[in-house]
Amino acid sequence: MTRSAYGEIMVPIAVVKRGPGPTVLLMAGNHGDEYEGQIALAKLIRTLEPEQITGRVIILPAANLPAAMAGTRVSPIDGGNLNREFPGNADGQPTSRIAHYIDSVLLPMCDGFHDLHSGGASLQYLPFASMRHSGDAELDKRSLAALRAFAPPIAIIWAFSGAGTYAASAANARKVANLGGEFGGSGIVDRSGVALVEGGIRRFLAHFGILPKDAAPPAAGSPRLMEIKGKHYYVYAPDHGLFEPAVELGQDVAAGQLAGHVHFIDNPAREPVPCRRRALGRVERGDCVFHLATDLKT
Ligand SMILES: [Zn+2]
Repeated sequence: MTRSAYGEIMVPIAVVKRGPGPTVLLMAGNHGDEYEGQIALAKLIRTLEPEQITGRVIILPAANLPAAMAGTRVSPIDGGNLNREFPGNADGQPTSRIAHYIDSVLLPMCDGFHDLHSGGASLQYLPFASMRHSGDAELDKRSLAALRAFAPPIAIIWAFSGAGTYAASAANARKVANLGGEFGGSGIVDRSGVALVEGGIRRFLAHFGILPKDAAPPAAGSPRLMEIKGKHYYVYAPDHGLFEPAVELGQDVAAGQLAGHVHFIDNPAREPVPCRRRALGRVERGDCVFHLATDLKT
């Protein structure tokens, strides 16, 4: 903002279109340090040909470009967390303007939207795709059908609304069937996460009739449907220190089971503090160390 007075941020966007038909927006780089979606969408831009499709695919592989270029969760230019900026402001800071463009220009064109995330530098996930309850049963039905079509091994339903400033909140307000998902994390690139995104987005496009069914790889099986019911599914560090997990990612756990201990390296004689209710090694009080999901009863 200081370096270039009239400078513009050239956020890359690709549109592949053939004839009338549905429109889907595929987005990654909402958080800059979440890489699997960015890679999969860059590959899709180079390989998707107009003659393969019916309708329109809009691809935004690095939505918060300054954050993606810096490999950081939020923008180094204005400190903006794009996924807390929706619906955005046309006259705001750069991150808020990006949110405003997605919400007011792109989403109104769309039948479907996928916002691809990962755990970033501070979280590690088993790859999963997800949807968030909107309060509109008809819209939720459309999003759930798209989630089943994406066919991840684990499908999570966020059964609480969360902040109203997510990209998902904007898509829900626009009545666009939408998915999210966390396809890796820990600041690395998870090969299985990239493969899941690459296959899943083709099945997602086929679900909307944009790609023929035989242009999408078959699903490995039916997803394990799980839900996250509220903030009580999150486990927080009770103190600062080094977190030693007591359970593995993806392990079945019971209520009240020990999650790990926080060790005090500056005072090794002090007994570690148990944490009951991973990714970050060094934790501060209030950091999320685990979050949980339960099988959805259908
Ligand atoms: Zn994210």
